[in-house]
Amino acid sequence: MNEPVLLTPGPLTTADSTREAMLRDWGSWDAAFNALTASVCRDLISIVGGEDSHVCVPLQGSGTFAVEAALGTLVPRDSKVLVPNNGAYCQRIVRMLGYLDRQAVVLKHREDEPADPARIDAALAADPAISHVAQVHCETGTGILNPLPQIAAVVAARGRHLIVDAMSSFGVVPINVRDIPFDALVAASGKCLEGVPGMGFVIVRRAALELAIENCHSLAMDLHDQWAYMQKTGQWRFTPPTHVVAALRQALDLYAQQGGQPARLARYSENCATLVNGMHALGFRTFIDAAVQAPIIVTFHAPADAAYDFPEFYRRVREKGFILYPGKLTSVDTFRVGCIGAIDPEVMRRAVAAIGASLKEMGVILRSAA
Ligand SMILES: *Cc1c(COP(=O)(O)O)cnc(C)c1O
Repeated sequence: MNEPVLLTPGPLTTADSTREAMLRDWGSWDAAFNALTASVCRDLISIVGGEDSHVCVPLQGSGTFAVEAALGTLVPRDSKVLVPNNGAYCQRIVRMLGYLDRQAVVLKHREDEPADPARIDAALAADPAISHVAQVHCETGTGILNPLPQIAAVVAARGRHLIVDAMSSFGVVPINVRDIPFDALVAASGKCLEGVPGMGFVIVRRAALELAIENCHSLAMDLHDQWAYMQKTGQWRFTPPTHVVAALRQALDLYAQQGGQPARLARYSENCATLVNGMHALGFRTFIDAAVQAPIIVTFHAPADAAYDFPEFYRRVREKGFILYPGKLTSVDTFRVGCIGAIDPEVMRRAVAAIGASLKEMGVILRSAA
């Protein structure tokens, strides 16, 4: 296969068998497809141990659609949402709340600083009108891991509701409803489950979803309506992404065969360590402290050399078979490298070699390497 390896936060490099699962057409009314959807939802709930308390509502579209649907469906229209903000995906939630006409209380953090449970606790104590906290788990904009167990405990102790954007951590970083109470947790087909993009899903506490009837401002985004219809008919409202669901079924089978969450965490952690060690040896510095770095995507400082230019660097690394990702920080020049997808440490070693060779071709010198 001569296609480049995607070292990005999604779409990702997928297994051959996952792509092959899409080589067939499914009727959306057909019982076989309904059974496929039901089995995928069952597996997704079981990843967080939510069988007794939670339901899974799939939604057509990319992950952002599902985050917006969760907020629009679950947050009462006259309510306030606390958003601990340490990066681009937190900021996206703030923008969504603006569109949805829900009040946001933004708790600003530095981008290299994990969300602080003590500050969240103080903000909830100070404002009883805040009903929900919207927390990004792994902030993919930088790769920082926010302390979800501690944040969930604070939110629960204050009697508020938690909505988690676990898009880039789901299936990798352990999350269990027993020790992390949440009303909703949002993820998608095309991230760490190693499916293809096109379907988001929300794992919702059943009691919270039942209360959210006719709250959503939008028909297409109404998770209660999607769930109620699916309960009644086994079908999706509106055309389902049939091939995406079939690929996710196969990706979930591989996930289980490979050892589930602990195995995926182990592989991604090894990918991440291989990448970071190799990049350190080349002279690169990481933006996020190792103690709070998630093994998902790593932000590196760009070389401080006039010969460096990201588009040119990108082109040369791509020529050698690897697709990098631009940085998402406004104040510092960076780029990102993903550790996720159907890739292993050997791929990461080759990627580091390609990066080193590209710098050499460009005549870029890293000061810390000298
Ligand atoms: C990928 C991602 C999303 C969704 O982004 P899409 O481009 O809509 O797929 C949301 N939140 C986080 C943290 C993500 O990593």
